Amino acid sequence: MGIFDRLKQGLARTAGALGDAVARVLAPGRSLDASTREQLEAALLEADLGAEAAEALLDDLKRSDGADPREALAQAALRYLSAHLPAAPDLLSPLPLAETEVTLFIGVNGAGKTTTCGKLAARWAAQGSRVLLAAGDTFRAGARAQLEAWAGRAGVEVFTAAEGMDPAALAYDAVQRARAAGHQRLLIDTAGRLQTRTGLMEELKKVHRVCGKAMAGAPHRVVLVLDGSNGQNMISQARLFSEAVKVDGIIITKLDGSARAGALLPLSRELKLPVLMLGVGEGLDDLQPFVAADYCRALVGAA
Ligand code: GDP
Repeated sequence: MGIFDRLKQGLARTAGALGDAVARVLAPGRSLDASTREQLEAALLEADLGAEAAEALLDDLKRSDGADPREALAQAALRYLSAHLPAAPDLLSPLPLAETEVTLFIGVNGAGKTTTCGKLAARWAAQGSRVLLAAGDTFRAGARAQLEAWAGRAGVEVFTAAEGMDPAALAYDAVQRARAAGHQRLLIDTAGRLQTRTGLMEELKKVHRVCGKAMAGAPHRVVLVLDGSNGQNMISQARLFSEAVKVDGIIITKLDGSARAGALLPLSRELKLPVLMLGVGEGLDDLQPFVAADYCRALVGAA
């Protein structure tokens, strides 16, 4: 299956309801009146676009020139995203560094950090990079085993520590090890749950700081992993993490099976953070670069 078809399949739950509503309400060439507008708005809110984005799209559609309704809505969504979403750096191409490139993965427990680290490690390894995965979640029983399993699947090395070890100390050692062993990419998975929110954020800051002590300029990228099935709740979560460390971009997971995939529109407006990749399943290959035009077409079930 091609990349777009996989994305389309992943967004099918959101696209089913939204696409049907658009096709039903907006016959080609028919313009929006109060009643069709209301019906469409309900479908957009259902897909979790939020009131502001829904209004913006409906206003935009008023100007639609009678194209295929799904296509017209996809184009309106794309115009909205293009106005708000910063261009994403290509996560798959290496930074021009002579040494190890360190990427820190942050996000709440269960967001999909470990899975995403595993998928990305596999991609990078397949491109010929020497990759090291570091199990920075030293609190959760099983987190280390889970990352080890992903390392095995991805065919890369893994750096672990005893359960309960200070995560910042682990990050320091992992950077040292990656440099000494000549790894081109180090991916540090972090913990997502602590007793208190403040504790988690303080720890993240410390891990971030310590990476820089182990290697000037590290971490080179900080990737925030968000669970797409949370819809617009992703926004407040992302704000919280952004206050602790500078986030370079977002990966949104679990869009497959989510009926709230439209939340990327308000998210783009609120956060102004690039979306790097999308997770559309639990398999090794179910992570794909974010292409706004493809996302918009998949969102409404356009061909
Ligand atoms: P972490 O606590 O942030 O490290 O989250 P995990 O990587 O352990 O993921 C939590 C659960 O979400 C696991 O069961 C994963 O298999 C699942 N998961 C992660 N990414 C995706 C995705 O893109 N799609 C689906 N359907 N499940 C995912």
